Formats: sequence, C-alpha cells, structure tokens
Amino acid sequence: MHIFFPKEIADLEQRVAVVPETVKKLIAAGYTVSVEKGAGLKAAVSDAAYEKAGATVAGDVAQAWQQADIVAKINGPVQHPELKKHEAEMIKEGGILIASLVPANELDAIKILMQRKVSCFSMSLIPRITIAQKMDTLSSQASIAGYKAVLMAAAQLGKYFPLLMTAAGTITPSKVVILGAGVAGLQAIATARRLGANVEAFDIRAAVKEQVESLGAKFIDIPVADAEDAGGYAKEQSESEQERQRQELAKRLSSADVAITTALIPGRPAPLLITEEMVKGMPLGSVIVDMAVSQGGNCALSEPGQTVEREGVTIIGELNIPATVAIHASQLYARNMLNLITHLTVEKQFNIDLEEVVTDGALLTHDGSCRHEHSRSLLE
Ligand code: NAD
Repeated sequence: MHIFFPKEIADLEQRVAVVPETVKKLIAAGYTVSVEKGAGLKAAVSDAAYEKAGATVAGDVAQAWQQADIVAKINGPVQHPELKKHEAEMIKEGGILIASLVPANELDAIKILMQRKVSCFSMSLIPRITIAQKMDTLSSQASIAGYKAVLMAAAQLGKYFPLLMTAAGTITPSKVVILGAGVAGLQAIATARRLGANVEAFDIRAAVKEQVESLGAKFIDIPVADAEDAGGYAKEQSESEQERQRQELAKRLSSADVAITTALIPGRPAPLLITEEMVKGMPLGSVIVDMAVSQGGNCALSEPGQTVEREGVTIIGELNIPATVAIHASQLYARNMLNLITHLTVEKQFNIDLEEVVTDGALLTHDGSCRHEHSRSLLE
C-alpha cells in the first residue's frame, strides 16, 4: 500500500507529519511512501533526506493525492489555494485519510469525506488509553506547547525568572501562575521551575495536586465539587462554582508576573478563568499566555492569533504554539502517526477492523457515514 504525506497548507503551520526516521520504519512495515516536494522544509527536513530514507518526492500534488491508498497529514482537509480544490475532494474515492481533524469545527470536510466514502481517522479522537499513548498527538503536541508558552512569556516579561544575587543587589524570582495542570500545564510548570520561577498551579481535578507538587510548584487548593467525569477528565462547572474559583484566583493573580492558562473541557468551550476585572488587578508589565484561545479562550481579553496589551498586561493568543517548535513537534507527531499506522497493520496491510478499540474511537467517517456521535448530531 502507498502512503502520501502532503505539504501542510493551513495558515501558520510549520510542521510535517513524517520524518526520515519514520519513512524507514513505514517501509520496513511493508508500505511505499511519497512526500510532497518541500513538505518538510519548515521543519528542517530536505527532500533529499526523505529520498535517502527511501521515499519518493512528489511534484504533481493532485496526482499524488489521487494515487495514494492512504494520505497522512497534520491538519484536517482544507481548500487548496493553488489547485482551487478542497483536499477532501482530492483523495481517491474510498481512500484512507489520517489527520488531526477537530470534528465539530470541520463539518464541511466531514460531509465531503462521507460523500466520497473516505475512511478518515482523526488523530484527535484516538482514545486516551494506555495502549494508545504512543499514538497520542494531543499529548505530544500539548507538552511542546506548554514548554514554549513559558519561553514566550519569559521573552515578553521585563524581568528575570530566577532569583539572582548580584553585586547590585538581589533580584527576587518571578511568580508564575499556571491554570490547568493537564499535559500542557505540567510541562509549563516544569519549564518555569527550570528557569527558576516560583510557580503556583490550579486545576479543578484535585488528583493532579501530587503531580504539581512533585514538580516543585505550589498547588492552589480551591475545593471543587464533582470536578471529574468517569474517565478522569474535567467536567464543566456551574457558573457559581466558577465564580468562587475566580475570586480565589484573582487574589493569586494580583501578585503574578506571568499567568499561563491551559484549561480545556473535552467537547465544550474553554472555561473563562480570567475576567477583565482580574486582568486589571494584575501588576503592570505582567504577561498572560492564553493557550486555550483557539477554543474560546480562558482569558476574556485574549485575541486569537494576536499579542495585545490590555490594562498594562501583555496577553499572548498564539494559535498554533507547537508549530513554533516545528522540528521536535514534527518528530513526535510523525512517531505518533507511525505508531498508529503500524498498530493498524496486519500482515503488511492497513486493516480497518471496526471492533478494534483504537479504530473504533478514531475512525470518524467510513463507508459513507459519520461514526462520531456529536458530529453526527451537528450534521443533522
Ligand atoms: P485538557 O487539555 O483537556 O485540559 C487541560 C486541563 O485543564 C485538565 O487538567 C483539566 O482538568 C483542566 N481544567 C478544566 N477546566 C478547568 C478549570 N475551570 N479550572 C482549572 N483547570 C481546568 O487535558 P489533557 O492535558 O489533554 O489531559 C488531562 C487528562 O487526560 C489527565 O487525566 C491525563 O492524565 C489524561 N491523559 C491520559 C492519557 C492516556 O492515558 N493515554 C494521555 C493523556 C492524558
């Protein structure tokens, strides 16, 4: 079977879904591989490096999409600016597409994929279970984003992060508050600690307290009733519960130099954690990085894709943070992709078994229908 990796065409994207290391392993698993000309350049992978690993470099993009059994990429299919055709229409009828579609935001593409009977796997729907950890792009990319968010804040802040004793006197460490201590938040805590900041973190899931403390940060303890669902994920809070949390957080933020917000609730808009009033209460010159900005934002004043100054506070609303660390983000994404493909390979063939747990979770469209219940309800 043949796998084609196109160049990403989404705005701001710098990553690529395959690297030479994974080309070699896909070939060893029984596949032939082609990569669109120039697909890896923004992630520092040359066409020659792909060729050396055994891939062919495709110059005719439309033909490469049509001929592939599997097309594998990062972003969900969008309108191709040069070919003036939607990527979902470029894949062959009945073919296989693997990409990180966010189903509720990509209903138009889903409709086309259904019409063309494409079997589309979404990396974002891979179940968060132990056997699938090695395929989990949400985690690999969130971890990169948590790390880079801290560096972005540090670069904006007119202060040192660490304690410094100098001949000109002592500099006290900066205070960093991290809201949401999932994969991204924990990496942000670790990074801010490595830079020497004092770190406090809050999450509605009390279970993360131990992890926060093991990284050398202080857990902001605001008791929350019924914060987790059966799968261990955050549940949406009542408005009065959220208001109580905001009052406590306002106190912590009034002395913070940096706030990094990562709070998300699966399938729901991001919770509002920092109101306009709370931004006003922060010290002049402080910095907020709103990592939830693409899902509605955790801060009332953040703007998608913009860095703005409000009430003397810089608010960063970068939309695709992993893409700014393109080399390692691509390497990890490509390994996750390889692990998914090899997991689904039986006797050197890509095998769609609807009973198999990863397939059942991640297969979004198949045989003309949409298998994702929430998207199906939105399509009706
Ligand atoms: P996420 O990106 O969906 O959310 C980020 C964090 O925001 C979560 O920790 C959540 O509790 C928190 N949050 C939500 N509402 C909040 C609020 N109002 N205030 C403060 N914090 C709030 O989560 P994630 O980082 O993708 O993963 C979180 C969970 O998934 C964890 O339980 C983690 O262990 C689990 N997980 C499991 C696997 C696996 O088994 N394969 C892989 C990754 C993550």
